[in-house]
Amino acid sequence: MKIFDRNRREDPEKRDRRRAGRNIAVVTVFFTALFFGLIGYYAYFIQFRAPGIIGSPYNPRLDKFADRVVRGSIVSADGKTLAETKTGDDGKEARHYPYDYLYVHSVGYSGKNGRSGLESLANFYLLSSHVNLIEKTVNEFQNKKNPGDSLVTTLRSDLQETASGAMGSNRGAVIAMEPDTGKVLCMVSQPNFNANELDARWQELTQDSDSKAALLNRASQGLYPPGSTFKILTLLEYIRENPDSWMNFTYNCTGTFKSDGYSIRCYHGEKHGEQTILQAFANSCNGAFAQIGESLDPVRFRELAESCFFNSALPYDLVSSKSLFSLNGDASNWEKAQTAIGQGKTMMTPLLDCMITAAIANGGTVMKPTLMDHMENAAGQAGKTFLPESEGSIMSAEEASALTEFMTEVVKSGTGSAFRDASYSAAGKTGTAETGSDSASHAWYVGFAPVEDPKIAVCVLVENGESGGRTAAPIARAVIDKYLQR
Ligand SMILES: [Zn+2]
Repeated sequence: MKIFDRNRREDPEKRDRRRAGRNIAVVTVFFTALFFGLIGYYAYFIQFRAPGIIGSPYNPRLDKFADRVVRGSIVSADGKTLAETKTGDDGKEARHYPYDYLYVHSVGYSGKNGRSGLESLANFYLLSSHVNLIEKTVNEFQNKKNPGDSLVTTLRSDLQETASGAMGSNRGAVIAMEPDTGKVLCMVSQPNFNANELDARWQELTQDSDSKAALLNRASQGLYPPGSTFKILTLLEYIRENPDSWMNFTYNCTGTFKSDGYSIRCYHGEKHGEQTILQAFANSCNGAFAQIGESLDPVRFRELAESCFFNSALPYDLVSSKSLFSLNGDASNWEKAQTAIGQGKTMMTPLLDCMITAAIANGGTVMKPTLMDHMENAAGQAGKTFLPESEGSIMSAEEASALTEFMTEVVKSGTGSAFRDASYSAAGKTGTAETGSDSASHAWYVGFAPVEDPKIAVCVLVENGESGGRTAAPIARAVIDKYLQR
């Protein structure tokens, strides 16, 4: 029996050619895939990773960029120069900040001790030049540097000046945002320091504890008990836990809420009397909200807070602190009541308070706060645009509209009287937060306007300002007046 039929066997030469052909095909597919993979990664890298990696302060190659490009300017949305590079007679370049103190926590600084703020975040773009090819070639021939692109920020100099002026010598923060886009319109933090003096004062600013306080951006890094501004989230949780009956809530305020051997007083011991839920919110009745707090499920309350960016990093590209919410399943009535009125262990940054307020204004969506609008080349032609980014919804449109109604009542009949005679409709919430020491309470205001079509959301925090309604609200009023009456 023949095992192999010779006639049916493949010619060995043919077989080798076929195998070689197959190998070539495999290798071709492999290299083609590799090639497209590399192209794909390169495109991805240039689009998404390069600005971060090239812009990283740890990348030594940046200094090479600076050898060939004059660092671009940073300008406000209304065309004012906030940072520029000046070349002296000796040819030496120096960064200059025309507004000295005003933008030190937002624009930041760039000098021999490093970079901060937008100077750090936009470093890559400021050291890129998109002048036209002819100008670039001429510059190369003359051995001249190319002018870097300018960053146009979202900050408005008129609002920044108004906010800072209204704060006076107070410590604290003011932030204003466009609710629909997350564009930051102004960001003030006090105390501050002159950005032009940073290098000269470096030792003192980083070592002396009083001076160090000026380095902190209170808007995004300062952590404070939110006081009654937190009643917004307490109310939202109460509505969620009592969808059919929350509107029937009533409370008889005698000035002091007593329970479990503790007591919580209303502001200055005021007796609010019989309160509906709307009145209790508008008048910021602590007793009513302490009672609401005791009734809440602490686990669900914590879930709500965490969905609003408590206990996690903020979606924000500059330095910020994590706001804290600590209720858990075994929380006592006292802890729940304290948390409900924004005291206890809850700590919050003014930036997060502003983001939540902006979300209520826009129907429930948290927008990522941004200070960068677009880049322009030296001829003023627009280049890269930084688009608004949504961080998802934290409440339904119905919930946002219910909270808006409550916050409108604050202005109409409650503690937001600073807005009562405004030429536009306004919604807001005051807060007066005990500091846990003998020093005066912190004063808060969060709000937005106009109610029908919100254009601006604001958060004001005045350290030891004593009264949200009397100290913080008028500052917010000045900023919103300025913006809406442009
Ligand atoms: Zn009360």
